[in-house]
Amino acid sequence: MFDFTQKTAIVTGAASGIGEAVALELAASGAFVVVSDLDKAACDKVVAAILDRDGAAAGFAADVADPEAAEALVKFAEAETGALHLAVNNAGIGGPQAKAGEYPLDGWRKVIDVNLNGVFYGMRYQIPAMERAGGGAIVNMASILGSVGFAGASAYVAAKHAVLGLTRTAAMEYSAAGIRINAVGPGFIGTPLLTKNLEQEVLDGLASLHPIGRIGTSEEVSALTCFLLSERASFISGSYHLVDGAYTAQ
Ligand code: NAP
Repeated sequence: MFDFTQKTAIVTGAASGIGEAVALELAASGAFVVVSDLDKAACDKVVAAILDRDGAAAGFAADVADPEAAEALVKFAEAETGALHLAVNNAGIGGPQAKAGEYPLDGWRKVIDVNLNGVFYGMRYQIPAMERAGGGAIVNMASILGSVGFAGASAYVAAKHAVLGLTRTAAMEYSAAGIRINAVGPGFIGTPLLTKNLEQEVLDGLASLHPIGRIGTSEEVSALTCFLLSERASFISGSYHLVDGAYTAQ
């Protein structure tokens, strides 16, 4: 559906869930995808799936909460293909569930480190690379919880709200350089982040919060993400795009 030939893309958190779906769709649309996640073997499984489908990809293990790793990831992408054009700062964690007055301090720091600082560190090195390439596009994976609260998830909600501010500001700063930066806000999506620790009854309860009557799929989030990265979205920058089955329309 999209044409990403001659484009190099970094996707973080790409070994699972939404990131994996985005990596597969970008590669199917012609991009060279740097599949990045914590575990190299997990990255390589996604790379193998892309190569099996005649796509182009390479794996690179990086912790998004480590700025040196974020820089090394961008250098790797440039060394592999000569330039970086696209990035999806997608890696994220749920964190502990507790009220703000009882929230574990180490859990707070970890969630902010991965879900907020990780997006900043990513852009900190992706943007100069895209300037070297003559332009580019970035999608930062926020959440519906970037615009509304959710009891028990103050660190996650705070980090995702902050990702919107970071996205808007960076988009203003780099529009003239030909770099578009947007945020995506998924509703609850059936990925390991959601399903690995929750009973079916809880998942059914989450599904019922979406007027559309179900949770979403990684492919539905990927479709929006790839659209925003594509030339079809050439006048879209600095904005937040929901894919949430009407969750936030209520
Ligand atoms: P997922 O299936 O758990 O995938 C996330 C991937 O990121 C995992 O492979 C995870 O590795 C990796 N990761 C975790 N910490 C990392 C770090 N510090 N550096 C690099 N990689 C790291 O989750 P998902 O549901 O696809 O979530 C992707 C993004 O969408 C997140 O930003 C999440 O907040 C957002 N989102 C998800 C939902 C949802 O309902 N699923 C809704 C709204 C927004 P490990 O498995 O080894 O931890």
